[in-house]
Amino acid sequence: MTNKFRYFIANWKMYGDLNSLKSINKVIKFAKLYNKKRFRLVYCPPYTLLHAFSTKLKKSPLSVGAQNCHVESEYGAFTGNINAKMIKNLGSKFIILGHSENRANGDTDEVINKKINSALKQKLIVIFCIGETLFQKKRKQTNKIIKKQIIKGLKGLKKNSRIIIAYEPVWSIGTGIIPKNYELDRNIKFINAVVKKNTKFKKFKILYGGSVNSKNIQSLNTINSLDGYLIGGASQNAKKLIDIVKKTYN
Ligand code: PEP
Repeated sequence: MTNKFRYFIANWKMYGDLNSLKSINKVIKFAKLYNKKRFRLVYCPPYTLLHAFSTKLKKSPLSVGAQNCHVESEYGAFTGNINAKMIKNLGSKFIILGHSENRANGDTDEVINKKINSALKQKLIVIFCIGETLFQKKRKQTNKIIKKQIIKGLKGLKKNSRIIIAYEPVWSIGTGIIPKNYELDRNIKFINAVVKKNTKFKKFKILYGGSVNSKNIQSLNTINSLDGYLIGGASQNAKKLIDIVKKTYN
């Protein structure tokens, strides 16, 4: 249980169609009733549902975000791509960048830095994902990898840039395995120190992502250095998502 302000970022990945919109009715109702608790719930559906989500959530306490964007923030000849300007126009306030599934598809730290700049230019709040793979963890490279991702990804950003960091160990995403609390606390503290030392940011939020569910949320909530969660699989089920939020406060 916590009384701290928490972010819950629902990453729907490449799932969902117009029918799935019905499933969020329960969450909207819940968020309206539960609005005395200090939290912000952001739905990040695929591009195809951004407009439908922002229309539906307009008068609700929930927000909308995208999962990626092209490096160019202005219109251009980039067939098949979507930029931050289009995302902003569709009513999104947030954007996830640097997700490991996009890093695995070729997004380098430099590309992610360009995307972050592009998104900030359009006044989106960036949820910047970092995290080591299992291979890197086993070789004790976690600190080295997350330090590099932070330094390169956040390079040159102004002090007032709206960035939220999401620590997502790649080996935790979709696996049901989460880090031990001491390990997570240590890594969050390390991230905090690296950001403070190598960027202009002095105050920022740090989220955890990777197999968060209603069974492990209470234990995760004992980690004081965390400001919330990025939730993939469990966020597509209204009941599971509501349970996670409830168990954070009860
Ligand atoms: C994610 O996609 O960022 C994620 C954390 O997924 P899951 O919760 O399914 O591990």
